[in-house]
Parts: sequence; structure tokens; C-alpha cells
Amino acid sequence: MAKKLSEIGEFGLIDEVIAPRFKDLLGEDITGIGDDCAVMPFTDDEVQIVTTDLLIEEIHFLRAKISAFQLGFKALAVNLSDIAGMGGTPTGTFLSVAFPKNLGVAWIEKFMEGYRSLSEKENVPLLGGDTTNTPDNIVINVAVTGRMKKSEVKRRSHARPGDYVAVPDNLGDSPGGLQYILDGLPEDKFSESLLKQHLTPYPKVSEGRWLAKKEQVHAMMDVSDGVGSDLHHIVKASNVAAELYLEKTPMSDNLREASKKYGWNAEELAYSGGEDYTLLLTVDPEAFEKLAGDFSKTFGRPLQVIGKIIEGEPGLKYLRNGKPLDGPGKGFSHF
Ligand SMILES: [Mg+2]
Repeated sequence: MAKKLSEIGEFGLIDEVIAPRFKDLLGEDITGIGDDCAVMPFTDDEVQIVTTDLLIEEIHFLRAKISAFQLGFKALAVNLSDIAGMGGTPTGTFLSVAFPKNLGVAWIEKFMEGYRSLSEKENVPLLGGDTTNTPDNIVINVAVTGRMKKSEVKRRSHARPGDYVAVPDNLGDSPGGLQYILDGLPEDKFSESLLKQHLTPYPKVSEGRWLAKKEQVHAMMDVSDGVGSDLHHIVKASNVAAELYLEKTPMSDNLREASKKYGWNAEELAYSGGEDYTLLLTVDPEAFEKLAGDFSKTFGRPLQVIGKIIEGEPGLKYLRNGKPLDGPGKGFSHF
């Protein structure tokens, strides 16, 4: 029987249907599908990097639950986050939109103001795009170009056994904010920071650029789907395994308190919720202390170890205080 898309999933679509058809057309120095950005030769010692992302109303956002300004900001933020994942500097952006004809111009102006606000903060101009109309749902596509030193490109495939797995931020605030929205919960003293993280995540471009200059940082990517899913890309690309120490999960007090109040599983939000738009990296363990100290001095918050890269079949093991929670390869939802 003919297979349906739902059976192969998003990653099956990419790995089985799309990517193999173009492998033979890739030049030697080009990285295509399979990392946060494509990487292409630029000058002798620099490369150009490119990423693109699609946001569809009702799939990625609900128009009634996010302001036009926030949506414009976030549409760019999620793309800049992929530039951050490589450690690059953004150079230009392209915005293509399909809007329904009855959409107010004032809404579109606010949307562009949000997009402009982050463009200004990161000093990256809008260079082009396309506009068209759609029967109902808003469709937004952003592409970002960037550049960086060839020798500083951070890939998913460079994790080594023994590396610490680290993140520079708390995990789970954005999915916590999403819970407030989806469950229609009233705002309270915990919700503000969680909603802010969900509606206007700030891409970690400066942190990514700083980390890219450190050769002790081996693999890096941005966190868009949740560490449980994103770290899987790193172990697969690097042909290693990883263990995660749940007792070390960095979570904000607001996420912990809101989870207590509403009965959420905070750790599950932290690992599988997605949209945190921070960075996930693997670091030479001997260099970690010095690197983390320097990071903390520069950015005012710590790099936090959440696990370790180990040898083995690509997969993740979740441990709590040294005790395995589940067999390797099983999903996080099992605990
Ligand atoms: Mg990414």
C-alpha cells in the first residue's frame, strides 16, 4: 500500500524523499540539508550560511493569541536562531508573506514593526521577498543569510565521546508560556516571563558567535524542537550517544511554580516542549570550567551541563541521580 506522509513524518520526508535527490548536485565544499544552515564557500577564509523557515497560521501560531508585533518579531527570531546555532553573523533577510485580503493594514504595519525591531537590534537589513494573498490563513516565510569564518563553523556532527552537553539558558519557559495560551489560563505572577519567552524569544546570536570562536566547543545547534529531539540530531550526525541528567535540568522558578500550580510535568516541558530558541552545545570536558567561567563573565549567566556524550548507537539515555529512567532509544514521554 502506498505510504502516507504521516507514516514517514517530517524527518522521513527530508531524509527519504527530499535530500537524497540532490546529494549528487552538491559541490565539494557545500553543506546542504542536515544542519541549522546550509554552508557555502564565500571568500578564502569565510563561508556564507543560509537558513529558511515557514510559519503557518493555526499550525505555528494562533492569530488571536499573539500580537502582530510579536509575530513579526518571532518570525525573524526563529530564523536568526538557526544562524546562532552555527555561530554566524546575519547579513540579510528575505520575507515572503501571504495575507488574506481582509487583513487590516494596521495589523500588517504592526507585524512589520515587530520584524523591524529585531532587525534593528541585530543590525540586519531586510533585502527582499515576495507578497501574495491567501484565502484565510496567514503564511510567513523568512530566509536569512549570514557569514562567518570557515574555521569557526559549528556543526551537529562534531560531538565526541566524553564531551559535556550544555545549554546557556533555562529550558521549558517557552512551552510553559504556550500552556497558558492553549489552556486559556489567566495571567498570574509566573506567567509573564514564560509568555515573553514564548511570544518574543530572543535569538542567541551574540552567544553563538562567542562560542563559535572557542575550539573546545565541538558540536552546536539551536534548540527549536526541545533538547530531547534536538540532541538526537547531534548524536545521529556525530554517530555517538548521550546521557542526560534530569536532576540537572535548568528550569526557571516561574516554570517550576506554574507547573506545581497546574500539574504540568516541568521536565517534560523542558525536554520536549520546543521553541526555547537557545543553544545546545557539546564541550571538551577539560576545558569546560574555564569556558563556562568566561561565558558567565561575558553574558552574566552560566553555561549549564545537562549531560554527557558517550560511545554507542545514536540515542539518548535519561538518568536521574545516576539511575536510568528508561531504556535507550525510547521517547521521553515514557517517564
Ligand atoms: Mg535549528
